[in-house]
Amino acid sequence: MDRGFLFGDGIYEVFPAYDRMIIGLDSHLNRLQDGLDAINIKNPHSKDEWKNLIDKIISFDSINKNQAVYLQISRGSDENRKHTYEELKPTVYIQSSAIKQRDKSSLLNGMSAITREDIRWLKSDTKATSLLANTLYAQEAKNNDAEETILYRNGIITEASTSNVFIAKNNCIYTHPKGPIILPGITREKTILCAKANHMSVEETPFTTRQLMEADEVWITSSTREIIPITTIDGIQISNGCAGPIWSTLYDEYQSLKS
Ligand code: PMP
Repeated sequence: MDRGFLFGDGIYEVFPAYDRMIIGLDSHLNRLQDGLDAINIKNPHSKDEWKNLIDKIISFDSINKNQAVYLQISRGSDENRKHTYEELKPTVYIQSSAIKQRDKSSLLNGMSAITREDIRWLKSDTKATSLLANTLYAQEAKNNDAEETILYRNGIITEASTSNVFIAKNNCIYTHPKGPIILPGITREKTILCAKANHMSVEETPFTTRQLMEADEVWITSSTREIIPITTIDGIQISNGCAGPIWSTLYDEYQSLKS
């Protein structure tokens, strides 16, 4: 009778750990709190309690030092299935799995992506467990041997099925501004900081599908995949078909955050 199972009524978070240390722990815990607030679930633990739980689950795996900790909080179980809810005891589910890191050398030719219209609801900034649209988009990418499905709404690139999207054109970096139609990715934030640390100009401003196709560089970001260059979109080569110098600098800078 868990509402997470019955309705996808819950919030989740993914914490990347390198050498058993979470990067961006506070940012992830803050986003978790924002999600719980958005759907009126009381946070069942304090930040310190979460930190202890996460550290504990990471320590259980004696082999893999790099792990992704998945945490889900559903509204809880009710006595019968009904759409409305009273205050319930939230259910906490937590697991950890190894992060399979990709070498920089394996990314130099870049990956492919497909594009699809973004038909998701207008609260995509909430990291809700109800991810049916996202899973269908991700599956479409897989069926097309692509890394990702990049989404557009009214001709504007929003994000991708499981990641945020960046382009670079004439040495300026663009990504969709935060707001209700994209998830505020933690890796997106870190990538912007890496760019600024390297004196690159970044504009959090919408860009079109045409600008995507005519970009010098395209990449996607997420906690488990980090920064992945995209060099083919809908079967069309982007720029010279190789991962670009801006991506390369950001990739290296991002790696330095882990040490
Ligand atoms: N957008 C969507 C739709 C996602 O599912 C994710 C990954 N959960 C991201 C962006 C990237 O977020 P983060 O960098 O925090 O992993």
